[in-house]
Amino acid sequence: MVNFFEKDPYAPIQYVYEVDRILYKGKSQYQEILVFENEYFGKILVLDGVVQLTERDEFFYHEMLVQVLMHAHPEPRKVVVIGGGDGGAVREVLKHEIVERVDFVEIDREVINISRRFFPTVSSAIDNEKVHIQNMDGAEFIKSHRDEFDVVIVDSTDIIGFAKSLFTVEFFKSAREALKEDGMFVTLSESLHFHKEMVVNVQETMRLVFPVVDLYTAPIATYAGNWWTFSAGSNRLSLREIRRPCIGDTKYYSEEIHRHAFLPDGLYSALMNKTLKW
Ligand code: SAM
Repeated sequence: MVNFFEKDPYAPIQYVYEVDRILYKGKSQYQEILVFENEYFGKILVLDGVVQLTERDEFFYHEMLVQVLMHAHPEPRKVVVIGGGDGGAVREVLKHEIVERVDFVEIDREVINISRRFFPTVSSAIDNEKVHIQNMDGAEFIKSHRDEFDVVIVDSTDIIGFAKSLFTVEFFKSAREALKEDGMFVTLSESLHFHKEMVVNVQETMRLVFPVVDLYTAPIATYAGNWWTFSAGSNRLSLREIRRPCIGDTKYYSEEIHRHAFLPDGLYSALMNKTLKW
């Protein structure tokens, strides 16, 4: 039996997966792409040695990345997904009939093609007529838009290499300017176990730009640290309030999960004041 050893740039531990079958191995202009099969997790997508998704548990991440804002926003008609080449985030956005247009800004078209080929249940909405694929850097895309979008969702690789452009103060400023008055923004911000400094850093940088900033979490078995965070911001509306009826078509997300996912005030203050005891 061959093993795959994950090369996560920031994790103090290493995950090892048994490989039943390698389905694809190649290199795009941007990154190394690997797809293999594991008995428990099903097909797994790996970019530059880091696991991006598994068929078994991708819904935890994709639902929580997308559904919290899609239920907090009163009328999410125009949505941008930056990164997310597998299509999981786009699939979740299009569960809402109110959505009129999704700009899907993935720098690497190869990831989209690989997902179409090997992950049909994840990429199922990529070719929907409401989806407009833009193969470019999300930071460049967002700069040329103003007062246009209801929701901006960042589903990038870890905060390293070409994904770094999506975590700068300039990017957050452009994202805020690209949003309408009631607009909302969310990005992944790594784990509360292993990457507290990164979480604080993303929060502090977003606080320089967005009047409302919050932090919520979800349990993700296959991302190092497991206790995964999402940093969300808005121009004025709270991200905690649920303003639309729950779509129901989810496995993990629900109104109850929405309400419980946000960090309690005491824990949030301790994190931000750097007084946590771990
Ligand atoms: N959920 C996954 C995770 O956290 O591991 C991320 C999945 S998705 C495949 C990440 C995608 O972000 C990759 O396909 C990568 O090409 C894309 N990406 C990274 N930086 C980007 C950028 N600056 N602009 C647009 N897409 C970017």
